Amino acid sequence: MKTGYLEVIAGPMYSGKTEELIRLVKRAVLGKKRVQVFKHAIDTRYGVENKLYSHSGITVHSVRVKKAVDILKITHTHSHIVAIDEAQWFGPDLIAVTDRLLKSGKHVIIAGLALTFDRQPFVPIPDLMALAERVTKLTAVCTLCGADAMFHKRVTKEVPHVNPLTADPGFVSKLDTSVFQARCRQCFDLP
Ligand code: ADP
Ligand code: MG
Ligand code: ZN
Repeated sequence: MKTGYLEVIAGPMYSGKTEELIRLVKRAVLGKKRVQVFKHAIDTRYGVENKLYSHSGITVHSVRVKKAVDILKITHTHSHIVAIDEAQWFGPDLIAVTDRLLKSGKHVIIAGLALTFDRQPFVPIPDLMALAERVTKLTAVCTLCGADAMFHKRVTKEVPHVNPLTADPGFVSKLDTSVFQARCRQCFDLP
């Protein structure tokens, strides 16, 4: 009987969680392990839907799922490793799903944000960190000072001035004024 093993990769945005997950997946494939990679359907970054994409551009094939239980449905009995990126979007249901995977002997690797952009625990990642055999906590580089950044913060991006009454509505709806920055403890409260 195989024993389950839970590994969690946590950190703020830009800390290299996806990069690390991809590194582990590629190593496992080299080691002839059968690996299945999932990410939440909410993540369609760079318009690529069936791949994990890191901010540095490296990729690996993945399956987009909407709900945590879908992971159970799609996981093959013969798979050794189940890797899940952007895991914070699955919410608390992911805890029971992970437990089921572990009980069936899978090595589960979960990457996700431990904290929201306003520094609140991002369920279920802190819970999964507590349940894990191994936790890798990563830091990004602070956008303002270059120190290790434990957090990410939502800041407002400078956008060209548009008059919403005269501008093309399609253009206005695409104007996303929020942007996220990695911030260290010292710089978090700065604008
Ligand atoms: P995550 O999944 O944690 O958001 P990624 O693995 O997608 O992170 O991206 C990590 C990469 O992002 C780094 O290797 C680097 O190339 C790039 N990057 C961009 N901004 C930053 C930053 N502020 N700190 C660290 N890395 C950054
Ligand atoms: Mg990522
Ligand atoms: Zn800083």
